Amino acid sequence: MRTSFVLLACVLGAALVPGAGVSRAEVISSLWQTQKSQHFIIYHQGAPADYVTRLVDQAERYYESVTDRLGYRSFSFWSWDDRAKIFLYPDSASYLGDTRRAAWSGASVNVKTRTISTFIGQETFIDSMLPHEMAHIIFREFVGHRKDLPLWLDEGVAGVQEEGKLAERLTQAVNLIKRGVYIGLKDLSDIRDYSLVVPQVFYAESCSLVNFLLEKYGREKFLDFSRALRDKADWQDSLERCYQFRNLGEFESAWKEYYGRQNRVSGDDAGKEL
Ligand SMILES: [Zn+2]
Repeated sequence: MRTSFVLLACVLGAALVPGAGVSRAEVISSLWQTQKSQHFIIYHQGAPADYVTRLVDQAERYYESVTDRLGYRSFSFWSWDDRAKIFLYPDSASYLGDTRRAAWSGASVNVKTRTISTFIGQETFIDSMLPHEMAHIIFREFVGHRKDLPLWLDEGVAGVQEEGKLAERLTQAVNLIKRGVYIGLKDLSDIRDYSLVVPQVFYAESCSLVNFLLEKYGREKFLDFSRALRDKADWQDSLERCYQFRNLGEFESAWKEYYGRQNRVSGDDAGKEL
């Protein structure tokens, strides 16, 4: 559950960290050391060198994989002064004290200032939270910070980047579809508040919807869709036009058919198609 709660905290408005971001960068004192790469500046306070190196390497790798998977490879984000910032606090107490997040928070993101904050010892940060939060920033940097997009789109784009969890989430989605207990797309698109949903169901559906668009139709279509969103077109019209669905119902039917044909099992074999 802890991970679910952490993920719940990452979205857009709710994710803004009071006092974090550029203003914090401006008051960086000698406490913070930096390590820079092509797209990132890591701020840390004497963290183990091997950990910082691994963090930088993985962040650059995710930059490539996220932009590649979404079809954004030919666009350049984050270089020189626009590099994304990762604040690596020495421990939970200093992280919570500075970011003023809830006690269960393991990481937080400020999408607009491209700032991700966490602390050393956060087990799932590098493998899971980092690609998730990076995808939030990159997607929103491309399509803009409009407030009318459905939450499932933001969370689906971010969720499919968590390679270690994707198979399990797709298995959950298949089970929801086969048991007929999924949330219909219209209702799902109206969800703007996490407190109204079961996190596992919401994330499974969100990830499977975006994964369906990317896997079946490819990155070029997703890029077309993203461009329409960037140009402030209505998201539903754009989805229907780019993917040639007559309406949301047809999208839902295609999604159900795509996963309804798959046999996925839980546990160690989760995600393997039989
Ligand atoms: Zn998220």
